[in-house]
Amino acid sequence: MNRVLVPLELDASMPMLGAQAHCLDGQTMGTTWQVRWVAAGASPSELVRVAVQDELDLVVAQMSTWLESADLERFNRAPAGTWHTVPEAMAEVLAAALWLAEISGGAFNPAAGALVNLWGFGPSPRYTDPGFTPPTEGAVQHALALNDWRALQWQAASRQLHQPGGVRLDFSAIAKGYAVDRVSRRLSGMGLPHSLVEVGGELRGQGLRLGGQPWWVDLESPPTAPGQAPLPTTRVALHGLCVATSGDYRRVYTHDGARWPHTIDPRNGRPLANGLASVSVLHTECLWADAWSTALTVLGREQGLALATAHGIAALFVQREPDGRLTETLTPAMKELAG
Ligand code: ADP
Ligand code: MG
Repeated sequence: MNRVLVPLELDASMPMLGAQAHCLDGQTMGTTWQVRWVAAGASPSELVRVAVQDELDLVVAQMSTWLESADLERFNRAPAGTWHTVPEAMAEVLAAALWLAEISGGAFNPAAGALVNLWGFGPSPRYTDPGFTPPTEGAVQHALALNDWRALQWQAASRQLHQPGGVRLDFSAIAKGYAVDRVSRRLSGMGLPHSLVEVGGELRGQGLRLGGQPWWVDLESPPTAPGQAPLPTTRVALHGLCVATSGDYRRVYTHDGARWPHTIDPRNGRPLANGLASVSVLHTECLWADAWSTALTVLGREQGLALATAHGIAALFVQREPDGRLTETLTPAMKELAG
């Protein structure tokens, strides 16, 4: 009943004899991070902690919507008609996000910040605040008019971004994945090529863990309906591979019986209601795993499957059927990893 996913290319280098397993964790971006690595000799734990924190802090300082001083928030507050120099890391994420916005027809939208805030998924007000009420139709229409990523003028070579007025960037569906990539690369650069890096459930595995095994990870799966047998466990060897999952079963709030996940459909300005319980994406870059999982969640099973297949993306869709049962669909690239 269980499924095992192994990357198609394996790298034979092993941790040195006498190597030891190490682990550190902490908090960032409103969630937790964890880093595991295998290294010989004395543990460079403090050096690793400083390096990890440095990478995470850089992403937060540039791309957080929770920090007034972040470059992204400064852009969001800027008056109409102003040009802004975007720092390098933020530019890298912006370019990726704009590309995915274009090919997903705006299902993934880095300029959906006004809508995100309106539905209480931004810093304040939060949907969890007592007395929080969902926005009026008029407010939704107003925010919808501000979420046009095509209205942004982006000059990649000089990293200049134009604020047309009222556009709010939100990189929360891609920045965690990007942070994972940065931390993992930083560790490799420090001579630590065997690591598993996680930020808020998005993971990247490099090399091997102690004992020569790859970093095995079970995909998060949503709880099944009463009476339905559990879904098969999907176990992935994260060997030069990343995984990200978006789901409607975490961070959900209910109002008048409707379930609202914290993902917005920027095309109609409302929280998703397409019955997808979760989408997991495997990719060699965590930035792409993270962003694609959000894009495919918004697109829904049929459109999502078509787009992921066209781009060779390995994805697993878990759909909540009208009778409450969960069903799984794998893209061809995902089936290939399953052997
Ligand atoms: P998770 O935090 O569970 O990994 P995601 O990666 O999907 O989830 O990110 C969700 C966050 O992304 C939301 O809290 C919001 O800030 C932002 N967001 C919501 N909808 C979209 C969308 N359609 N496109 C881009 N970003 C979105
Ligand atoms: Mg995401």
